[in-house]
Amino acid sequence: IGKKKASKYHWQSQNVKQSGVDDMVLLSKITEDAIVENLKKRFMDDYIFTYIGPVLISVNPFKQMPYFTDREIETKCPVCICVHTYICMCYACGTYNPIGESGAGKTVAAKYIMGYISKVSGGGGKVQHVKDIILQSNPLLEAFGNAKTVRNNNSSRFGKYFEIQFSRGGEPDGGKISNFLLEKSRVVSQNENERNFHIFYQLIEGSSAQQKEALGIMTPDYYNYLNQSGTYKVDGTNDSKEFQETMEAMQVIGIPGDCQMQALHIVAGILHLGNISFIEAGNYGQVESPDLLAFPAYLLGIDQNWLQEKLTSRKMDSKWGGKSESINVTLNQEQACYTRDALSKALYARLFDYLVEAINKAMQKPIEEFSVGVLDIYGFEIFQRNGFEQFCINFVNEKLQQIFIELTLKAEQEEYVQEGIKWTPIEYFNNKIVCDLIENKLNPPGIMSVLDDVCATMHAKGEGADGTLLQKLQAAVGTHDHFNNWNSGFVIHHYAGKVSYDISGFCERNRDVLFPDLIELMQSSEHAFIRSLFPENLNTDKKGRPTTAGSKIKRQANELVDTLMKCTPHYIRCIKPNETKRPRDWEESRVKHQVEYLGLKENIRVRRAGFAYRRVFKKFLQRYSILTPETYPYWRGEEKQGVLHLLRSVNMDTDQYQMGRTKIFVKNPESLFLLEEMRERK
Ligand code: ATP
Ligand code: MG
Repeated sequence: IGKKKASKYHWQSQNVKQSGVDDMVLLSKITEDAIVENLKKRFMDDYIFTYIGPVLISVNPFKQMPYFTDREIETKCPVCICVHTYICMCYACGTYNPIGESGAGKTVAAKYIMGYISKVSGGGGKVQHVKDIILQSNPLLEAFGNAKTVRNNNSSRFGKYFEIQFSRGGEPDGGKISNFLLEKSRVVSQNENERNFHIFYQLIEGSSAQQKEALGIMTPDYYNYLNQSGTYKVDGTNDSKEFQETMEAMQVIGIPGDCQMQALHIVAGILHLGNISFIEAGNYGQVESPDLLAFPAYLLGIDQNWLQEKLTSRKMDSKWGGKSESINVTLNQEQACYTRDALSKALYARLFDYLVEAINKAMQKPIEEFSVGVLDIYGFEIFQRNGFEQFCINFVNEKLQQIFIELTLKAEQEEYVQEGIKWTPIEYFNNKIVCDLIENKLNPPGIMSVLDDVCATMHAKGEGADGTLLQKLQAAVGTHDHFNNWNSGFVIHHYAGKVSYDISGFCERNRDVLFPDLIELMQSSEHAFIRSLFPENLNTDKKGRPTTAGSKIKRQANELVDTLMKCTPHYIRCIKPNETKRPRDWEESRVKHQVEYLGLKENIRVRRAGFAYRRVFKKFLQRYSILTPETYPYWRGEEKQGVLHLLRSVNMDTDQYQMGRTKIFVKNPESLFLLEEMRERK
């Protein structure tokens, strides 16, 4: 990237033709209606971007915007201009965080940023390779990690934080992805009108005749894991073409040919595993058609009889006459189904982690200098039935809203008070209370703690655990303002709306155990690739309290918060204008609801009354000392007086700044550009 001077807020002047106001700090009336009105005017005129100071609001147009052609994206897309400015300034680290509900446009925004970074900077060799990987990681991870839901045809079912590392010359030469909890329950069941992960349909539609034969590929309705939801196709998606892109991506990323083939074996193997069904025979589950065992066993490289045995029985430790020994317990039909699904989910999730790891290996860099992080997580979602997965997804969104509030509303106002600046506090809803309800450790314990406690003591079969959980939740947080009970579970009043969670399956999914029998089974595979996905040492791996899915997402979310807080976060607040996914369709009440819960009005108020720029007196004096003879080479008196002297000599408008205890605060960045220009002329 050329060392073009990082010119101020110059991206704001990009939308030259005015349609509404492009920075809502300039709205004459700050009400939610006025905000919605402004966004609508711009949306209807094809301006999907609007600012609140440095925060970018993006309204999903549900159509290709004319200015997003390859050539124009570099100069017209504000997100990219912002990234450009940022890279030019070579900060230590900065992040781009699209936030918004499912289908609002987060993934698209994240892809623009990544696309931009890989397009504009120069470089060949290693740099080119890293850029290719940045671009190709998207189709690969989307194939395995995205799916059609009722809210979004390409919904991210995992979260990722992509750190792109730069050389001193501003070229991307490394990177690292951290991925968050994949919604693996989707592998074995989906709601009506939804699909499994894209890769299953891609493989079926796009594989060659030879591959189809090798992998036993039939039509999608043949597979139980695909035929329950009744949806096989997605409007505007060509699964066959996307399959070629997925394979191409594996190639570019450097996944060896035999591993690519093994990955497909696993995908097909899972489909075939799903067709193994069980009948109840005298309280025991029996494989209904044993001939259906042969093909999945072949694909996974395991013994067919052993597969049958492990799906219908389990080793359990038993104390017998003071000695502990292992006995084989036969499973009933329901338990056998559960075991089969657990195996499918584990295979899929581990394959997904392998792919992320492969991408990371390909981008590894020994020393990290500075980086730009791009976050793309699953958005807040409310379905007809909301389970453990929605609970986790919505929790992560709650945490992200929390940092936004911390940084833009809370810390900002606290600093004014601390510095003794005249300030009328602006009220806002702080969702910390909802985060605490979910993740508090003690006093009272939050939902996740209670859940983990119930899981730690639940019976191996898990019977009745969900009921116990509901009772314990009632005792622990029953009186919390944001918590209610309902007949099949509990309701959380999230920042973005009320969600009723169905309690069934919470404990099982949180516990997320993979029985050693299944690990052993997969370790017996004749394929080294599959064995490598199950590296556990069953004899020595510690037996302590196992990590639960909930505690893992909690840890990851908090690590993410730490990372984002350390960097300079830039927000892209994505708004979804309708549920129809059609262009030019504007549902006023939906938009208004989002404007409300995103806290845009409060954001504008703080921004408008507040100060865009602040510096401690000493730094300010150092930077601009050259502007007056009294301050050059240094000011001899008190620092605060020096700053005042400087500002008066350049005639800065007195309503443009205020002096705090230790810092100077300037309202508009424009006032500073003036100082910068004077400094350059000296
Ligand atoms: P989820 O939380 O479900 O992953 P998301 O916020 O990532 O949702 P996207 O997948 O980015 O949502 O967007 C949903 C769809 O909306 C896209 O597939 C695309 O069709 C359309 N869309 C989003 N943003 C844009 C844009 N800037 N220009 C054109 N179309 C867009
Ligand atoms: Mg997404």
